[in-house]
Amino acid sequence: MISSKMKNTNISVQYIKGVGPARAAILKKIGIKTINDLLTHFPFRYEDRRKIKCVRDMEDNEEGSICAVVTKHKLIPVRRRGKMLLKIILEDGTGSAEMICFNQKYLLESLPIGTQLIVHGKFSRIGRFLQLTNFEYEKLSGTDEDLIHTKRIVPIYPSTDGLNQRFLRTLIKRVLDEYMPYFEEMLTQSIISEYSLDGYSKAIINVHFPEGFPEQETARRRMVFEEFFFWEIGMALKKQKVKQLCKKRKYEIKKTLLSKFRVNLGFDFTTAQKRAINEIFNDMMSPSPMNRLLQGDVGSGKTVVALSSLLLAAENNYQSVLMAPTEILAEQHRLTVERMIGGLGLTIELLTSRQKPAAKKEALERIKNGSSNIIIGTHALIEENVVFKNLSLIVIDEQHKFGVIQRSTMREKGMNPDVLVMTATPIPRTLAMTVYGDLDISVIDELPPGRKAVVTMQQSERECYDFILKKVKEGRQAYIVYPLVNESDKLELKSVIVMAEKLQKSVFSRVRVGILHGQMNSADKEKVMKSFIEHEIDIMFTTIIIEVGIDVANASIMVIEHSERFGLANLHQLRGRVGRGAEQSYCILLGKHFSEESKRRLEIMLITNDGFKIAEEDLRLRGSGELFGTEQHGMPEFRIGNIVTDYPVLNEARRAAFNLIRKDPGFLLEENMRIRKIFTEKYSKVYVLGNVG
Ligand code: ADP
Ligand code: MG
Repeated sequence: MISSKMKNTNISVQYIKGVGPARAAILKKIGIKTINDLLTHFPFRYEDRRKIKCVRDMEDNEEGSICAVVTKHKLIPVRRRGKMLLKIILEDGTGSAEMICFNQKYLLESLPIGTQLIVHGKFSRIGRFLQLTNFEYEKLSGTDEDLIHTKRIVPIYPSTDGLNQRFLRTLIKRVLDEYMPYFEEMLTQSIISEYSLDGYSKAIINVHFPEGFPEQETARRRMVFEEFFFWEIGMALKKQKVKQLCKKRKYEIKKTLLSKFRVNLGFDFTTAQKRAINEIFNDMMSPSPMNRLLQGDVGSGKTVVALSSLLLAAENNYQSVLMAPTEILAEQHRLTVERMIGGLGLTIELLTSRQKPAAKKEALERIKNGSSNIIIGTHALIEENVVFKNLSLIVIDEQHKFGVIQRSTMREKGMNPDVLVMTATPIPRTLAMTVYGDLDISVIDELPPGRKAVVTMQQSERECYDFILKKVKEGRQAYIVYPLVNESDKLELKSVIVMAEKLQKSVFSRVRVGILHGQMNSADKEKVMKSFIEHEIDIMFTTIIIEVGIDVANASIMVIEHSERFGLANLHQLRGRVGRGAEQSYCILLGKHFSEESKRRLEIMLITNDGFKIAEEDLRLRGSGELFGTEQHGMPEFRIGNIVTDYPVLNEARRAAFNLIRKDPGFLLEENMRIRKIFTEKYSKVYVLGNVG
C-alpha cells in the first residue's frame, strides 16, 4: 500500500530531510513552499559538464571539469584576524591544480587527503599552477551513476541569496527519487499520443536532470504543454459555462433608434466597424449571453460600435451600462453619447463616486425604476447600492484598467447580461488567447478614412516650444504630459504645476493654458476638459491621466516630457490622443538620461505607429506579467511556459483542451475524469476559475 502522505506533493518542504525552518524560509522567498513547488522549480539553463579534461590540457581561463584526487592541504593565515585561506591540492596524473578556498575551513574535514572528486569551475593558469577560485565539486564513491553536480548536463536554477545551486540541486534530486514511484500521469493517453508527448515521469526527470539535450527539449515541451493545457481547460470551461446560460430575452433589430443614429452620425462605418457590429448583434440575438472582446487600436472608432449595441438594447427596452475607468473618460462618454443620440428621447444617466449625495440618490432611483436607459459611469457602478430594473448589456471601455473580479461583479447585476469589453491596448494574439481565452474576439483593424499617421519626433525643448507656438497660431491645440503633478524633492523631474507656471510666464505668455491632473476635484476637471474641447484653451499641461480615451479632434500635438520614464504601452496610448482629425498630427518625445531600454522604446516609437507591433515589442522587452499587472488582469504566471517563445505549444494545448471540452463537456469519459480531478485539485484555485461543472 502507498500511504497517502507519500503521494501528496502539497506538503511543506520541511518534511524533506535537510530542510529546517531556516532553509524553508529562504525557499519561501523564491516561491517554494511545497514539494510540488520544488518539482516545478524548473532550471533556467543547463551546463554541459559531461566532458572531463586532463589537468595538463586545461587552458588559462577555461571553464571545465577535471577528475582528481586530493593530495595536500595548505592552511595559510591571512592578515585579517580569524580569516583563513585554504589551498587544496589536486592531482590527476597529468598535473596538479589548487582549489582556493576562503573561509571554507570545513572542507578540511569533508575533503580529506585521498578523496577522489570531480571539480568543475573556471581555471586560471599562473605559471605552472592551475588555480580554481569558483568551483563546484563532487566526491566519487565507486560508481558515478549518482553524480548530480558534475560529469553530466547540470541544471542551473533560479535562486536567491543564501541558497546555493548545490543545495537546490541536491534537494530536487532527492525529491525526484523519493516521489518517483508515485508520480501520476496528468494527461490522457490519447492526448499524449496525439501530440507526441513524453510521459510525466520521463519528462520531469529529463527537465531537471537530462540525459542529453534532445531529451531535455522533448521533456520541456511536455511540461510546457501540460501547464498551458490546464490553463486552457479553465478557459474552455469558463466559455462553456457562459454558453450554457440562457438569456430569456429577445432582441429584435427594430431600427427605431439605430437608423436615426446612423443618419445623425455624419460618416459611414468602416468595413471593420460594420463587421464588429454584426458580430456583436449576432451575439446579442443568440440565446446565450455575449462575452466578447472588441479590440482596436487607439482612434479606430470603438465608441460608435459600442453605442450601436447600447441602442439595440434600448430599442428593445432594456437598460445598458457603459463603464469607463476614469471620471474624465466617463464624463466625455456622456458628452459624446448626448451629442450623438441626444435627440432620440432616451434618458442617459451619469454615475460617478464624486457625485453629490442628493443627485446621486435621484439617479439611483431612476436606474432602479427603469426610467434611465443608458447608464454611463465609473467603478461607482459596481457598488452594492446600484440596482437595475432590467440590465441586459454591459460595455466596459478600456477594460485592461479593470480587474477580473470587477467584471464579474458587474455581470451579476444584470440577468445573464451580454458583456462587451473594449480595449485599445493592442494585445498580441498570443496574449489575447491566454488572458482573454474565454472570450470571443472582434478586431477593428482599420482606421477611419482620411487619417494621417502621427509624425513622431525627438526635439530639444526649445525647438519643441517654438513648434507648439507656431501650431497654436495656426489654430491647433497641444497636450504636454509630465510624469509628476508637482515638484518632488527626491526626483529631479519636471512637473505639471511647476512647468505650467514657469512657461506661462515665459514662452507661453500669449497663449491660453490649462491644467489637468488627477489631484483636482471632479468639477474642476470637468470644467477644464470642457474648455479644452471648446477650444478656450490652447495648451493643456497634464499627466498620464489623459492616457485613456480622451478624444479631441483639434488637438494635434502631443508632447511627452521625460519620455524615458514611460513604458511603450503608455507612450502609444498617449500618442493615440492626437491624430484624430484631418490635420497632420505630431508626437514629440522629450527627455534625457536614456537607459539602453528606454532608448530601445523610443526607437520603436519612432519607427512604427502600429499598436500591434508595439505590443509585441513591449512583450519582448518586459515580459507578459508586467504588461498586464499579473494579478489584476488574470494573467497567469506560468512556471515553465513562455507565451511568446512557446506559442506553437500554446496553440496545441489550446486545441487539445477545447477539443476535450467540446467532445466531453461533463468529463464523463473515464480518462477525462482524471483531468477534471487534477484540474479541480491543482488548478481551479490558482486560476480563480471556481469549481468545475
Ligand atoms: P477609440 O477606438 O480610440 O475609442 P473613438 O471611438 O474615440 O476611438 O473614435 C475616434 C474618433 O473617430 C471619434 O472622434 C469618432 O467620432 C471618429 N470616428 C469613428 N468612426 C468613424 C468613421 N467610420 N469615420 C469617421 N470618423 C469616425
Ligand atoms: Mg475609446
